[in-house]
Amino acid sequence: MNLPDNAIEAVKLTKTYAGGHGTAPMHALKGIDLAIPRGSIFGLLGPNGAGKSTFINILAGLTKKTSGKVTVWGRDIDHRPRDARAAIGVVPQEIAADVFFTPRESLDVQAGMYGVPGPERRTDALLAALGLSDKANAYVRQLSGGMKRRLMVAKAMVHNPPVLILDEPTAGVDVELRRQLWDYVVGLNRQGVTILLTTHYLEEAEELCDLIAIMNHGRVVACEPKDQLLRRLDTRAVVLTPETPLAAAPALPPFETRLRPGGELAISFKTAEAGVEEVLATARAAGIHFKDLRTEEPDLEDVFLSLTYGAAPEPAEAR
Ligand code: ADP
Repeated sequence: MNLPDNAIEAVKLTKTYAGGHGTAPMHALKGIDLAIPRGSIFGLLGPNGAGKSTFINILAGLTKKTSGKVTVWGRDIDHRPRDARAAIGVVPQEIAADVFFTPRESLDVQAGMYGVPGPERRTDALLAALGLSDKANAYVRQLSGGMKRRLMVAKAMVHNPPVLILDEPTAGVDVELRRQLWDYVVGLNRQGVTILLTTHYLEEAEELCDLIAIMNHGRVVACEPKDQLLRRLDTRAVVLTPETPLAAAPALPPFETRLRPGGELAISFKTAEAGVEEVLATARAAGIHFKDLRTEEPDLEDVFLSLTYGAAPEPAEAR
């Protein structure tokens, strides 16, 4: 069988949630194009409300798309929904453990749901891979939070899918468990499993992913190899407190300027291209006098702003 180049592909994908009780419809995905190459660890980043879960739920068959085309492992979700679903394992954000089952039973039930025949079940191997062998017969309610989360990962892998999706896998997870989870995920990837993970931690994506897409307000605002993206994000800001209030942010090319609500002037620069001295010289040459200054690292919000900066304003009805 020919393997697909892309494990997941979305073309012009939209999702609009109907508004209820007098509220406007919500355009959660506004026509996104995404290709997740086979074999990659792909990070989908974005602030809350960006549309990440909506995208994942469409892939998992839990939410119906409004329009566009989606294929999972080369299988169109409209034409071959069951085959498309069988190609992915999803580790949900919330721990939903079946309290009456032991981990072993829980994996067996899950394998049964996916129609994995007895001899092909990998229950023991999965329990071992996730460090749950000695808890195989314990009640799930006796497991720690970390163990429950590992069990969720094992459940997602019972049918040996070529694509594993993790939705905010380490929200509220301690450092040690995070490490264990990542080791396992990286190991799976080395064996050929394509990994898609959502996160709102830039660090997490930085550490693990080969490719990063950034979503904001239902759009993909960047999708690049990690190193390239990080170079673009390699910005700092000089923040000046002007002697006299400025009416508007002055243009100081090649730097980007923004007047903050309190009257401070933030001037962003790429560290590869300029230093603080040059920024200050440019500001002075433009006749800006200031009584105070500091430098800042950009946070993810600044990054989103800088990536969406200059984009055409959206028509009101598309918001
Ligand atoms: P993210 O996962 O990036 O936080 P979501 O996909 O959950 O984003 O949400 C995208 C937008 O769609 C948000 O504005 C959210 O409020 C809205 N939304 C999500 N699910 C529903 C739903 N079932 N009904 C209506 N609106 C929804």
